[in-house]
Amino acid sequence: MLLSKIIKEDEIRKAKKYIEKGSSFAIVIHSAPDGDAIGSSLGLFHFLGTLGKDKVHVIAPNDFPAYYKWLSGSRDIVMHDRYPDFAEHLIRDADVVFCLDFNEPRRVGKLASALVATEARRVMIDHHLNPEDFCRVTMSYPQISSTSEMIFRLICRMGMYDLLSKPAAEAIYTGMMSDTGAFTFNSNHPEIYTIIENLIRKGIDKDQIYRRVNQVYSENRMRMMGYVLYEKMKIYPKSHTALITLTQQDLRRFRYTTGDTEGFVNMPLSIDGIIFSAFLREDPENIKVSLRSSGNFPCNEFAATGFNGGGHKNAAGGEFKGTMQDAIALFEKTLNAYTDPT
Ligand code: 5GP
Ligand code: MN
Repeated sequence: MLLSKIIKEDEIRKAKKYIEKGSSFAIVIHSAPDGDAIGSSLGLFHFLGTLGKDKVHVIAPNDFPAYYKWLSGSRDIVMHDRYPDFAEHLIRDADVVFCLDFNEPRRVGKLASALVATEARRVMIDHHLNPEDFCRVTMSYPQISSTSEMIFRLICRMGMYDLLSKPAAEAIYTGMMSDTGAFTFNSNHPEIYTIIENLIRKGIDKDQIYRRVNQVYSENRMRMMGYVLYEKMKIYPKSHTALITLTQQDLRRFRYTTGDTEGFVNMPLSIDGIIFSAFLREDPENIKVSLRSSGNFPCNEFAATGFNGGGHKNAAGGEFKGTMQDAIALFEKTLNAYTDPT
């Protein structure tokens, strides 16, 4: 298949050498794993399994949405917040640790100290801007829309497309779909569709994958969505911005579980004229900030200045320690610095 060689040859060569020589592998993903973190890690997990590697574990700091749990291998993901000793042991004793879909140790929360302490060879495969220097190999390609796509490209460049199994292809497709909003943003690169063609040739049912991820709302989630749009969305017309907020009380009312608010932050962008959307969710330990934009508004800079975070231009996030009122005040202050409210 015709794919351009975006990833540097010497990175491919080193990764291949580590894979060939290694016998135990830990694949680490970021906190609150999203579809791309889950998809890329399970894609690599299945691929290494096909190669005959029998000591391969995916390690996540914490739980991920239920609508990814149909993916083969997802039930074996080791969650650090449930099994801290086991997760840290796996990272300590691995020959190779893959860091997937994140670019700085901070993004794995309490796993960070084990991650930087291990003597394993660390290989970053990621697409966020400005990677920190903590890995032996830093494959960092912000121009690629998902880490899952990078896993596919890596496997092909190692000359092993034939070894890609259907479960690996399903995971990779799920991740690519997730980070592009089902191919509605960051998705104009024609080779994305060459890759999809070759995943379909592995037997995936892309329509079914879409349904399994996007059409499995609980009644509670659907009602919370209605509530958010009707009562909890504030529009700042002059800034072309929307803000939605949910407090602990709101979340309890709708029996919130992980993943229930996924995608809420995208909804206001469907309003004509809105180019920037923010969502503040009061979690037990902090306020989680999610930002989305269309066009040139830099969500990652906004997250970094106001909310100790980062990400991509059109999708970023961060966190805030304090009350919802203070978070909203900081949001409005930061917004005024970015847009002209007059
Ligand atoms: P989400 O809003 O879906 O949680 O996150 C969107 C994107 O923002 C993620 O893919 C990630 O790149 C980035 N992001 C989210 N939360 C954080 C954070 O706390 N710190 C940093 N550096 N990036 C984040
Ligand atoms: Mn990603």
